[in-house]
Amino acid sequence: ILSLKHMQKSYGSHKVLKDISFDIKKGEIVTIIGPSGGGKSTTLRCINLLEEPTGGEIDFHGENILHPSYNRNTFRSKVGMVFQQFDLFENKNVLENCMIGQELVLKRSKDEARKIAMANLKKVGMEPFIKAKPQQLSGGQQQRVAIARAISMDPEVLLFDEPTSALDPEMVGEVLEVMQKLATTGLTMVIVTHEMGFAKSISDRVLFISDGIITEQDSPYELFDHPKNEKTQKFLSNFR
Ligand code: ATP
Ligand code: MG
Repeated sequence: ILSLKHMQKSYGSHKVLKDISFDIKKGEIVTIIGPSGGGKSTTLRCINLLEEPTGGEIDFHGENILHPSYNRNTFRSKVGMVFQQFDLFENKNVLENCMIGQELVLKRSKDEARKIAMANLKKVGMEPFIKAKPQQLSGGQQQRVAIARAISMDPEVLLFDEPTSALDPEMVGEVLEVMQKLATTGLTMVIVTHEMGFAKSISDRVLFISDGIITEQDSPYELFDHPKNEKTQKFLSNFR
């Protein structure tokens, strides 16, 4: 469904992404790991066009979304993102947070948006908190609301940028559990994470990004237990 071809991104003369190529098939769970500053977040931000790639191609259902004639709004509504910092609207309650995008972007009626939001809040176990404001919730609860909000938009692909790294350790599990459950629903997911055990158990494929290139990509079994690249080996040895 998505295909990155030699994607590049520079800030001025700083080449952050040198050559990123990979495919994501429908229903696939791809995780991205690698050292800090290697270009993982930039890769996600380019995929959902928060950043403009400076080279290469991003094909969505076979069409290059970077082409000037491509309708980017349609694409944007089909790719969701969950950030490290939850990023909820502070002045809106949990239910409103999960409804507003549906109403504004997808033009759903209030009733329909509410119904969908409630169903998804139930999935993430946040149904009892619909009237709460984000600041009244724990980090783990906020992140589960952010996930419910993202899936309420019916994305074809959902991107996660270190969804648990801003959380207190005791809350990491509840968020990973929700993601694990989502993975079984056939949703296509791309996940940047430092949770190696999680990456190993959830992924269909793991990419190792370092210095703006994919130095290795493989099944979780191969990549974690038999890494072939020296950089991957060195990186993973820090987690043992
Ligand atoms: P981390 O694990 O720390 O989140 P990362 O792999 O996500 O790292 P990126 O955030 O993609 O790394 O950053 C890659 C490089 O791009 C870094 O050297 C960073 O300084 C640089 N960079 C990122 N955003 C910008 C920007 N807006 N302007 C200039 N340089 C940037
Ligand atoms: Mg990052």
